[in-house]
Amino acid sequence: MPQYTAPLRDINFVLKEVLNCDKHFASLASREEVSEDLMDAILTEGAKFSENVLSPLNQIGDQQGCTWSESGVTTPDGFKEAYQQFAEGGWPSMTANPQFGGQGLPNSLGLVVTEMVSSACWAWGMYTGLSQSAARLLEVYASDELQETYLAKMTDGTWGGTMCLTESHCGSDLGLLRTKAEANADGSFNITGTKIFISGGEHDMMENIVHLVLARVEGAPAGTKGISLFVVPKFLPDANGEVGERNGVHCGSIEHKMGIKASATCVMNFDGAKGFLVGEENRGLNAMFHMMNSARLGTALQGLSAGEASFQGALAYARDRLQMRSLSGPKNPDGPADPLIVHADVRRMLLTQKALAEGSRAFIYWVAQLVDTFYFSGDEEERRKAEELSELLTPIAKAFVTETGLESANYGMQVFGGHGFISEWGMEQIVRDLRISTLYEGTTGIQALDLLGRKVMGSGGKQLMVFTKIIHQFCKEQQDKPGMAPFVEKLAALNAEWGDITGKLGEKAMSNADEVGAASVDYLMYSGYVSLAFMWARMASIALDGDADDAFLQAKVQTAQFYYQRILPRTESHKIAMLNGADSVMAMPEASFAF
Ligand SMILES: Cc1cc2nc3c(=O)[nH]c(=O)nc-3n(C[C@H](O)[C@H](O)[C@H](O)COP(=O)(O)OP(=O)(O)OC[C@H]3O[C@@H](n4cnc5c(N)ncnc54)[C@H](O)[C@@H]3O)c2cc1C
Repeated sequence: MPQYTAPLRDINFVLKEVLNCDKHFASLASREEVSEDLMDAILTEGAKFSENVLSPLNQIGDQQGCTWSESGVTTPDGFKEAYQQFAEGGWPSMTANPQFGGQGLPNSLGLVVTEMVSSACWAWGMYTGLSQSAARLLEVYASDELQETYLAKMTDGTWGGTMCLTESHCGSDLGLLRTKAEANADGSFNITGTKIFISGGEHDMMENIVHLVLARVEGAPAGTKGISLFVVPKFLPDANGEVGERNGVHCGSIEHKMGIKASATCVMNFDGAKGFLVGEENRGLNAMFHMMNSARLGTALQGLSAGEASFQGALAYARDRLQMRSLSGPKNPDGPADPLIVHADVRRMLLTQKALAEGSRAFIYWVAQLVDTFYFSGDEEERRKAEELSELLTPIAKAFVTETGLESANYGMQVFGGHGFISEWGMEQIVRDLRISTLYEGTTGIQALDLLGRKVMGSGGKQLMVFTKIIHQFCKEQQDKPGMAPFVEKLAALNAEWGDITGKLGEKAMSNADEVGAASVDYLMYSGYVSLAFMWARMASIALDGDADDAFLQAKVQTAQFYYQRILPRTESHKIAMLNGADSVMAMPEASFAF
C-alpha cells in the first residue's frame, strides 16, 4: 500500500508563488486574516493528520467496507476514532462562518487540506466533505431559525450532512424527481419518497445526520421549476437543540460497489419525515447548485488527489524494482539489472502522472480562489468577473481532472506491471476508488453539455472570452521573456484556435442541435488541455525567475516542457474529432447498433 506523503513543497509553490495567496487572502473582505505562520501550521498539521491517521485506514476501509443492519450502518475500524480526532482538532469549522463558531478561513485554504485528506483516504473524506458543503449551503440559504438550530452542531462537526437528489428513475434528469412534500399547519412539511445512492446517508461517525433533500411540494409545476429543498434531520432537534425524537427517515440498504467501499452509499426511505423548507419554494435546485458546485470542485479534487497518490506509489516502485537494462547502457552496473525508472516508457508514464497532478493542482487551487473572490470579495466588479470565470471553469475542472486522474491512476498500475493488479500494493484500489469520480456529481457527458451548451453557446461565446482574454494578456506579457517562447507561442496559437473552433461549432449547431452533443466531450477535453497549458506556462514563468540551481524549479520547467511536447498535442485529435461533426455519430439507425 503506498504511504502517502503530502507534497508540501509543490503545494507551497502553487499557493505562495504562482497564485500569490497572501494578496488573494487580503482581498477577501469577509474572511479572517491568514498570516503565513497560520497557513504553514495548517498545512503541516493537515499533512500530519492525513499521513499518520488517515493513510493507514485506506486499505482497511477497502477490505472491511461498511456494514448495514436494522439499527444502522457501521463504518470500518478506525473511521469513527479518526473522525473524533478530526473534530477535536477543529478541522470541520475551518472555513465556516464565525457567527456559528467557524474560523472564517478562506475556502481555497480549506481545499488544500481536503486534497491531503483525499489522497490519504478518499472514502473517509467523503463523510466530512459532504457535511461541510451542506453546512455552507445552509449558511447562505436557510432561514435564521434553521441556521440557529443546525449550524453550530454542523460547524463543530458533531452533526453531519448529505445531499439527497438521486432517485431510481432520475439521475442526470432531476426534473423527473417524485419525492413529495406535503405542507403541515405549523409550516413544516412531510417528506415522502425514496432516494438512492446517498453518500453518508447513514453511518456511525456523527451524532446526527442532516439530509438536504430535493422534493416536490404538492401542486408544484412539473420539471425542474417545481423542485424545493428541505432540511430533514435523522433526529429532530429538541427544545435545547440536542438530538431528540427519531425522524421518519431510514436507510433501507447500502450498495455493494466497485470502489470507495468505506463510503456508505445508501438507499434512503423518507416516510412522511418532517422536513423544513430551505430558501424559496420551487427554487430548490438553485440553492442545491451551491452545494453541487462545491461538490463538483471537491470531485475534481478526487481526480487530483488519487492521481497524486498513484504517482507517489509508482515513483517509489520504479526506483526500487530492477528489470532489464537501459537501452543506452547500464545505469546500475553493479546490480543484476537497472531500476524501472531508467526506461523511457516508464519515465513517460511517471512524467504524465506528474504533469497531470501538478498542473491539476495549480488549476483547481486557482478555481478555488475565484470561488473565494465571488463569495467574499468586497469589490462588486471583481465578484462578477470571478463568478463568470469560475462557472465556466468548474465543469472543466470536474470532468477533465477526473478523466485525466483516471488515466494517471491506470499508469500508476501499469508501472507496477502485474503487481499493480494485486491488491496488497494498493494501486488497483486507487483505480477502483477513482472510477466513480467521472460518474457522480454529473457525469463527464453532463459536464460537457453544461460547458459547451449552457455556458459557452448559451452566452454567445462571451463566457469563454473572459478566459481567452486572460490567456491572451498573459501571452502578451510573457512573449519576450527568456525561456518562455516555446510555451507562449503554442499557448497563444491554441487560445486563438479555441475561439475559432467555438465559432465553427456555433455555426454547425444552428442547423443541427445534435452537433453540440456530438462535440461536447471532445470540446471539454480540449478546453482542459488548454487550461492546464495556461497553468503550466504560469508555473514555468515563476520557476524561470527563481534560483537556477534549485532542482525543484528545474523540474518544474522540465515538466512544463514535457506537458507541452508530449501531452498538449492531444488537442489536435480532439479538434479534428469534434469538427468532423455529428453525421457519423447520428447516421446509424438505432436498430443497426446490434445484429
Ligand atoms: C457511489 C455513488 C455515490 C453517489 N452519491 C450521491 C449522493 O450523495 N447524492 C445524490 O443525490 N446522488 C449520488 N449519486 C448519484 C450520481 O450523482 C448519479 O449516479 C449521476 O448523477 C448519474 O445519474 P444516473 O446514474 O441516473 O445516470 P443517467 O442519468 O441515467 O445517465 C446514464 C448515462 O447517460 C448519459 N446521459 C444522460 N442524459 C444525457 C444527455 N441529455 N445527453 C448526453 N448524455 C446523457 C450520462 O452521461 C451517462 O453516461 C451517487 C452515485 C454513486 C454511484
